[in-house]
Amino acid sequence: MNTVYPGTLTPKRANSDLPAERHCLRCKTAFWSEGFGERICKRCKTQVSWKSAITTGDGGSRRRSSR
Ligand SMILES: [Zn+2]
Repeated sequence: MNTVYPGTLTPKRANSDLPAERHCLRCKTAFWSEGFGERICKRCKTQVSWKSAITTGDGGSRRRSSR
């Protein structure tokens, strides 16, 4: 009787789901990725959110100097 283990059929996709040390896509710095979706180091992530916040805020609070 040959038993097929479910682990053998696990797609490679699951591999990227595991936490591992990866290189940031932005600064190429090695950082600890906690799993799926973690391709950017926390430092860059903070910078990105910081930029977005500024951009969003800046667009809504423009100076009104029409008069
Ligand atoms: Zn980075």
